Amino acid sequence: MRDGQENPAARNILVCDTTLRDGEQTCGVAFRVEEKVRIARLLDEMGVDCIDAGFPASSQADQEAVRGITALGLRARVVAFCRPNRAEIDLARSCGANAVYTFVPTSDVHMRVKFGGDGSEVRERLKREMADGVAYAKSLGMFVGCGSEDATRTPYDYLEEVLVLAQESGADLVGVADTVGSSTPDDFRTLVSRLRARISVLLSLHCHNDFGLATANTVAGILGGADEVQCTVNGIGERAGNASLEEVTVALTQLYGFSANVDLSRLKPMSDLIAGLSRIEVSPMKPIVGGNAFSHESGLHVSSVMRDPTAYEPLRPELVGHTRRIVIGKHSGKSIVSHVLDAHGLSYDDGVLGEVLREVKRVAVLTKSSVTEAQMVGIYHERIANPV
Ligand code: MN
Repeated sequence: MRDGQENPAARNILVCDTTLRDGEQTCGVAFRVEEKVRIARLLDEMGVDCIDAGFPASSQADQEAVRGITALGLRARVVAFCRPNRAEIDLARSCGANAVYTFVPTSDVHMRVKFGGDGSEVRERLKREMADGVAYAKSLGMFVGCGSEDATRTPYDYLEEVLVLAQESGADLVGVADTVGSSTPDDFRTLVSRLRARISVLLSLHCHNDFGLATANTVAGILGGADEVQCTVNGIGERAGNASLEEVTVALTQLYGFSANVDLSRLKPMSDLIAGLSRIEVSPMKPIVGGNAFSHESGLHVSSVMRDPTAYEPLRPELVGHTRRIVIGKHSGKSIVSHVLDAHGLSYDDGVLGEVLREVKRVAVLTKSSVTEAQMVGIYHERIANPV
């Protein structure tokens, strides 16, 4: 356990997946309604606690998606994203939503850009509208979340004032968004723990990855006392994306010892599905789900991994639905050559091994690629037939 402040095992972290809403806001991504319904069903089966199903005010298609997903009667809470005004809350409700995640911009820059000022007049108006919207949604019997947009660039006292007001207005959950991904783990943990001292309802985190810190910031916020993480499959989302479901759930449960309801063995299949439907390929180096996440080529690594995978794997690939892969190429060593030749029932001595390995490396460099088992067997037969 990394954190001496608490016993993480005592806490179950809630996971809210926003692939269908914030994830779809990725440039160039558009899921069809039937795809969203299918993804939502799978997210539910996977065990996420909450599904952000869409922003009804943004499009007819989002309205249809929210309708389709709420109609499934999932175990997960299905939330519609909206601004805290009666029209958008009514619209969310007309789409079947029993839960809304509302948001209000709180940073000076967002208030200036969106409302023409950051003075007390704008602040008071936004607070009034937020409080009214939250209370209205509560009066309809909905589960109500209310988050601060751009919370991490908001003066702390004002942020706390807004979120405490949201709580007092009846919000069941308040959210903190690192909207442009510019917080740091230290700052974010401090921010969340200060808010935690004032917020008794659920506290949710929404981090972006502009500096590659979305996962680290999300974890830090949980250590600061938050209850829920918002994330997307493969970390898709605007600009550099959101905190990734895979990284966050695996880090929190495997490194920190928190519990979560997500079935980790579904992470890789889910990642493949979203990569396909979003038409955004996952980097081979992506933690947990990338093609290389459990691949080994270098001779020293391969010979160790073949004896005991834990030598170079911090996780079992099966845990996350992935598979181990031994790649043959320029960095290979003799152990993989003998392994393949044995598997094919071929006889050899040390000289032949060295010979085949040299040719494998030469071909790999020449083609700037890996070499398949079949190619290696081919090389073996050529060398045996035409020894140098
Ligand atoms: Mn976002």
